Amino acid sequence: MINSLKNIEIDIHFLDHYTDPAFAISQNGTLFEWNEAAERAFGYTREDVVTNTSTEFVELLHDTLAPIMSKEAMFKLKDIKSIPQLKLINATGQPVTCSLLLTPAKKNNEPAVIGFLHVYQEKSDIGYKVQHLESITNGLEKSFMLTYLDYDGFIIGCNNQFLKTSHWTPKRVIGKTFWQLFPDHEEIEETVEQIWQQLQAGNSWQGEVEKVTKDGQLYYTYLIAIPTIAKDSNDPIFVLIERDITDHRQLQTQLERIAYIDQETGLMNTHRLENIIAEKIEIGRHFSFVYLSIDKFYTLKDLYAVEAEESLIVEFTKRLKMYFQDSTMARINESDFVVLTPLSDWFIQGFLTYLQQNPIYNNHAAVPISISGGMTRFPEDQTTFSQMMKASVATIATVREAGGNNIVSLSKASHKALNRRSIVEKRLLLALDQRNLDVYYQPLVDAVSNKVIAMEALVRWHDEEIGTVSPDELIPIAEETGLISEIGNFMLEKACLQAVEWQKQGYDLKVSINSSVREFRDKNAAKTMLEIIERTGCPTTSIHLEITEKFALEAESESSIMSQMRTLEQAGISFILDDFGTGYASFRYMQLLPIKTLKIDQTFIASMLKSEKSAQIVNGMVQLGKSMNFAVIAEGVENEEQVEMLQQFGCDILQGYYISKPALPNELKSLLKA
Ligand code: C2E
Ligand code: CA
Ligand code: CA
Repeated sequence: MINSLKNIEIDIHFLDHYTDPAFAISQNGTLFEWNEAAERAFGYTREDVVTNTSTEFVELLHDTLAPIMSKEAMFKLKDIKSIPQLKLINATGQPVTCSLLLTPAKKNNEPAVIGFLHVYQEKSDIGYKVQHLESITNGLEKSFMLTYLDYDGFIIGCNNQFLKTSHWTPKRVIGKTFWQLFPDHEEIEETVEQIWQQLQAGNSWQGEVEKVTKDGQLYYTYLIAIPTIAKDSNDPIFVLIERDITDHRQLQTQLERIAYIDQETGLMNTHRLENIIAEKIEIGRHFSFVYLSIDKFYTLKDLYAVEAEESLIVEFTKRLKMYFQDSTMARINESDFVVLTPLSDWFIQGFLTYLQQNPIYNNHAAVPISISGGMTRFPEDQTTFSQMMKASVATIATVREAGGNNIVSLSKASHKALNRRSIVEKRLLLALDQRNLDVYYQPLVDAVSNKVIAMEALVRWHDEEIGTVSPDELIPIAEETGLISEIGNFMLEKACLQAVEWQKQGYDLKVSINSSVREFRDKNAAKTMLEIIERTGCPTTSIHLEITEKFALEAESESSIMSQMRTLEQAGISFILDDFGTGYASFRYMQLLPIKTLKIDQTFIASMLKSEKSAQIVNGMVQLGKSMNFAVIAEGVENEEQVEMLQQFGCDILQGYYISKPALPNELKSLLKA
């Protein structure tokens, strides 16, 4: 980071303290400073030069500079530019030979340039490019460290600022060398050499450097090294102008630490990890990205008191380091970690066993710590950091749902599925926002009279971008993302409005809406549903909610779900147990929950004709339902033989392609009239 003299020379007024001529040019080419020394040396007053740009001297100066440096280049100067020889003419027409040092500066925040002139008075031009700058340093004495070196690099003088910072005494420092000012390590060695070479070549150097005090403490300075001429002896010497920036640097490194290192564990954080991965990807190094997440971390935290939480993480990190040794390790958040390793999957999975063999103790009891993890390989599976993270987070959720304590490998195939999922999620949000879902209805007929008595509302989604998404794909995604409530409410409203419409047309049809248990986790689900129904003007008694056995199982153990079902039942809504026979049918919940109807799952109906046994099972289900006073529906009825058999068994209601596929209300008109 080259900082240039800009900082020093922002205030142009100090030019007047110089004993040598100096001027300043603004970007539009006008001279706006001309110090007293310049007035003396050239015989032009400040007024001549500053206020009257047409003066011959200003023109001459511009003409003289033009071949050396373009105006654009002049105002883009990042560094000091020295012009060893310049011929100008003073007010009396005499030629004046001088050297010029241009340095970038600012005037009212616009780029400007300051020129320090040194007039050669002696014939002895020793060929040294830059002439003495004592006059400049006079002005800097108070705020900067100054060190003077002879041509061989021995320290020949310094100011108090330097002594204060470097802890040297004036006696001791004289005779020490330039190189002794810097710490003794390789990184800085190169820079020191560079500075020295530049000085030897007659050039200046500037930049940030690390230095060392007499007693070995490190400090940082912004250093400008300039070759010059000793005032008294005319010997070439070097001057180091420095400002202590240690505080600034320390703050910076501290900030860097905070930005890159996790304070608690000393592991790197996500930002640093991201950089390292980018580097590895760039050089094409193969590695496994292992994402590890502590299972039930918040429960562990609660169980093992707050003080233990830190040591839990620290202890866990220790085991991580012991097991994965030199691998790159990062802490992603409170309980999640990432390891980058070239090691094989089976070795990585061995970490679970290692954790069990080396338990973390809390009050002499082993903390039951387990991990959910995902491994994905670069470049075989994923090719970017964000892909790796995304894929891992999704995998961990699945692993955890399946009970945790497992590290699974994530192939490209499952990544594709995840990608599709995230697209579906995004598009679904949009579709819901624009109410872009369709409701299809599938009729249910009375098995005896053959009359349509109800319609099941089924969601249909055709998306412009991703095409048709079947409910079997859509519903699980909606359940996981919580969007299922939105879908449920949308379907309920549409179905209610349609029921009202059918009623207007003279058809008394119940509408049946599929409900997911996830919707009932919202404590206000029942209330919201009743509000929607009321708004549509649909009688509650026309509404059936279909719940699955999984729903029933959960409802039985969760009083809030149960009570919401009761509220709905009391309001007049009935419940149908859908997919009956596929889950854990239990007499208990069949009695406990306000269920009035069973819907035998279509898989039983499909196999009914193929095997005697299946037919018996279906018969058994029908009889069971009847014995418990439930109405019984058979779904997935596809042919006449099934209809006949179901009628024989005494099944009450039939649903399936044999009667009609799910369709739009328009398409169902003829069926209703019949
Ligand atoms: P489900 O509730 O068991 O719905 C019956 C499914 O079987 C429907 O598939 C329907 O089109 C299909 N089906 C009906 N008759 C026949 C038949 O004779 N033969 C065959 N092979 N299939 C038949 P769909 O519409 O694809 O829905 C699949 C599942 O998605 C539904 O199963 C339901 O669990 C869920 N679902 C659909 N819409 C919604 C909704 O609005 N909310 C919720 N929560 N779930 C819904
Ligand atoms: Ca259903
Ligand atoms: Ca079903």
